[in-house]
Amino acid sequence: MVFHGPGDLRREDLPVPAPAPGEIVLRIDAALTCGTDVKTLRRGHPVMIPKVPTVFGHEFAGTVTAVGAGVAQFHEGDRVVAANSAPCGGCVSCGAGRPNLCEDLLFVNGAYGEYIALPPRLVARNVVPLASSLPASRAAFAEPLACALLAVERARIEAGQTVIVIGHGPLGCLLGMLAAARRARVVMVGKTGWRFERLRRLEFARWVDASAGNVVEVLRAANGGRGADVVVDATGRPEVWEQAVDAVGRGGRVLFFGGCAPGTSIRLDTRRTHYEELTLLGAFHHTPATIRSAVDALASGVVVPDELISHRMPLEEVGRALELMAKGEALKVLIES
Ligand SMILES: [Zn+2]
Ligand SMILES: [Zn+2]
Repeated sequence: MVFHGPGDLRREDLPVPAPAPGEIVLRIDAALTCGTDVKTLRRGHPVMIPKVPTVFGHEFAGTVTAVGAGVAQFHEGDRVVAANSAPCGGCVSCGAGRPNLCEDLLFVNGAYGEYIALPPRLVARNVVPLASSLPASRAAFAEPLACALLAVERARIEAGQTVIVIGHGPLGCLLGMLAAARRARVVMVGKTGWRFERLRRLEFARWVDASAGNVVEVLRAANGGRGADVVVDATGRPEVWEQAVDAVGRGGRVLFFGGCAPGTSIRLDTRRTHYEELTLLGAFHHTPATIRSAVDALASGVVVPDELISHRMPLEEVGRALELMAKGEALKVLIES
């Protein structure tokens, strides 16, 4: 599936790629749709898609079918998962141990296809072998789960804390599942509807309906009126960022996980932020370390994301899958070729 620009996704027959030196080629066993793809299809993406046309999709797991000269660590037949980017290793951010902020992140697309060639930098830094017991449909969650892991680490979520996650899209749920795995008390906030009803059956959290009354009061009450230790926005809406700050307790941490539209801003209660020592954090993307931790969490069953897949479709139906997501009628769609 080739992205030619906003609203223009085409099915095209391309040759199976041959690996250049340092590259590997995978047959894609499973790909997942992502909200980012929906946004990109609507308006493009300046960072992930610097030029068009390009192959499309970025969450996938596959099997190595060809190995380029000089690649020693992978062999034909290996099952692997690859991140959708690789840091340069040489810039100031990489040197400071924050490769998610790399000034030269190399992005890779092409999950919605039968084969994908992975560039040398990705092969060297961000491709992880899979245990035979980990199905591709779960392994493909490594990329979004790695983003959630980075966020959970940034917010220092630990056992016994009360953690509120506002937004119950797949990433909000992965964040909640990780917090629950760390034995935090998790409160998930969403809006009633089929997704809410389906997900609230998962027992990792208490579920609160955001449309029922004053949500901030309800959330503060969730921790005896004190406010939560950590509040995570997983919606990317400025008004929800404000609610997240309002719902956190003294000394608490607010994690802004959802990216808002360019040019937006929020109001901030300076008195509370100072005298209550609030910590306001951003979290962006993932690192080679969180990609590996994500694969471990999926392999060991710390996170079982199967319920976040609402549909399975063949490759030809990627366009329809992304439409369903845009209309709020799908969580994640598993694409199988
Ligand atoms: Zn994604
Ligand atoms: Zn870098």
